[in-house]
Amino acid sequence: MYRFLHCFGLGIIIVLATHMANAQEKAAQDFHSYADPGTVRVKHIDLDWDVLFDQKILKGTATLTVDRISPDRPLILDTRDLNIEKVETSADGRSFSPGTFAIGESDKFLGAPLTIPLPANASRVRIHYSTSPGASGLQWLEPAQTAGKKAPFVFTQSEAIHARSWIPLQDTPQVRVTYTARVRTPGNLLAVMSAEHDANTTRDGDYSFRMNQPIPSYLIALAVGDLRFRSLGPRTGVYAEPSVIDRAASELSDTEKMVVATERVYGPYRWGRYDILVLPPSFPYGGMENPRLTFATPTILAGDKSLVSLVAHELAHSWSGNLVTNATWRDFWLNEGFTTYLERRILEVVYGRPREEMEAALGLRDLNEEIAALEDRDEILHIDLKGRDPDEGSTDIPYEKGALFLRHLEQTFGRARFDQFLKSYFNHFSFQSITTEQFVAYLKQNLLDKYPALAAKVPVDEWINKPGLPATAPKPTSPAFAQVERQAQRWLSHDVSATRIPTNKWTTQEWLHFLKFVQDSLAAPVSAGGPADASATQLSETEKIKLMSELDRAFHFTRSGNSEIAFQWLLMSIRNAYEPAYPRLEEFLLSVGRRKFIKPLYEELAKTPDGKERALTIYRRARSGHHPIAVATIDEVLKWRAE
Ligand SMILES: [Zn+2]
Repeated sequence: MYRFLHCFGLGIIIVLATHMANAQEKAAQDFHSYADPGTVRVKHIDLDWDVLFDQKILKGTATLTVDRISPDRPLILDTRDLNIEKVETSADGRSFSPGTFAIGESDKFLGAPLTIPLPANASRVRIHYSTSPGASGLQWLEPAQTAGKKAPFVFTQSEAIHARSWIPLQDTPQVRVTYTARVRTPGNLLAVMSAEHDANTTRDGDYSFRMNQPIPSYLIALAVGDLRFRSLGPRTGVYAEPSVIDRAASELSDTEKMVVATERVYGPYRWGRYDILVLPPSFPYGGMENPRLTFATPTILAGDKSLVSLVAHELAHSWSGNLVTNATWRDFWLNEGFTTYLERRILEVVYGRPREEMEAALGLRDLNEEIAALEDRDEILHIDLKGRDPDEGSTDIPYEKGALFLRHLEQTFGRARFDQFLKSYFNHFSFQSITTEQFVAYLKQNLLDKYPALAAKVPVDEWINKPGLPATAPKPTSPAFAQVERQAQRWLSHDVSATRIPTNKWTTQEWLHFLKFVQDSLAAPVSAGGPADASATQLSETEKIKLMSELDRAFHFTRSGNSEIAFQWLLMSIRNAYEPAYPRLEEFLLSVGRRKFIKPLYEELAKTPDGKERALTIYRRARSGHHPIAVATIDEVLKWRAE
């Protein structure tokens, strides 16, 4: 059973007493960590590694500085598949003597606890260790898997609980640490981390980093490859492989503008620099908000800045997530719902209201589809993830339902008041990890109780603790999309040919909406008498293929270089058995590792015996190039068994 150690009232007192760090740090039990930070708490980590590409391992030491709240208790760390060679402890912080340790039984989600007894006065612990080639938080790429094809590449992905597969630490978001790192690599490669570093450092294979602001473990990040840097503004820049750097720099040239726009509403950016690392295509996510250095998929490089909402999202995490962090993975919506809301506010400032409306309408559509597919228990913002992989909570619910809740608050209390509230929330909880209960208590005290008549219009408990959406939930609409639907309808009714649809000013978002609307129409029964007509029939397969061909001839979707449009089209092609797109589908699945794209495509293929066969044939070739996180997902989708 899940229990918090304090109630609402106490929560407020604890939060107000910002210096009572230890009391507050015991706020919530994290079922996804073996650590007991209420007794021994790691404050700082010094890392030192050799990056060994030939063995696909990191080898070195992690030296942990701890705060001993209960002096008789051992230090318990999270690990997964680490090879621990030896452990040393130190009382003065400089001279180390041999220590003992024990590794407990391994759990399939959590890994194994590493217990280190601490002698009296010991305040530092040094662990000599190496990672495993299959570490879930690392992906080692062969040169052929990179853009340049000449040098190998490695990168980390620690969220939610993968940091423990490359660093022995207290892998819970409620423990915040500062860190330093020294990283040795092959001489021609550059290492970067989520920390302060010199972009113009000499490429000598020996790099140093320092992160002075306390961050949760899932934000520690490292990448090593043949990387170049390009400045985008006084505080912003981009890293990418040499053949990608020009494209990346021009696509991301609005980054500085986005930082300025966000600061204007939510207060200063607190992390010094904001750089973006564009990774090779096997990166399993769109982006990861590693502080000072967002990791991003190259699939956002569309050539027209139409997919940079991802940068707005990762940048927004500098406030929601990195500055104010979810205390456990059941509070994940505090990171993602707030960030999705902020992302749209940034887009509105930089690209205008119609763009925001389109993104919000697409978000609502995705959310409704997700709600239709999920079990009730997974539609709850404050989700119960005990005994489960926290990655299972990463659906549209924390993102889109969370954002819609904040939109409801904004619309009810007014933008000016809600902006003021959020700004003070970020200040109040800065550099802290908080629970949903702490947020609700703060909301009550600083917004709801001040305007009781308005508060009565927002069913806060229903939003946070119940499945589905409240009846009063906002329904974002886009006039531009209504226009797209009218045009699509004219084409579907054969009033105009595809080539005559006035599409020359359409943005990526309008194209996506067009395709989704057409897909819905192809799947729905058609008849002269409207949807209720009993004589309504489905379009035949031949008729659907004919319509798909007409669209492809007019707009060349099969060859689209825009990853979102290509993905949507390929999904439709599977659904409607449009075979001319199959070679592109195969190429797409072999070259892209982003889970958002490959999971639905494999799921769609797996719905028919023929499709499943094709999926397995493609996956057999693609699997070794995928990230461990993507492999775990697709193995499950295709019920893959090792051959
Ligand atoms: Zn996010």
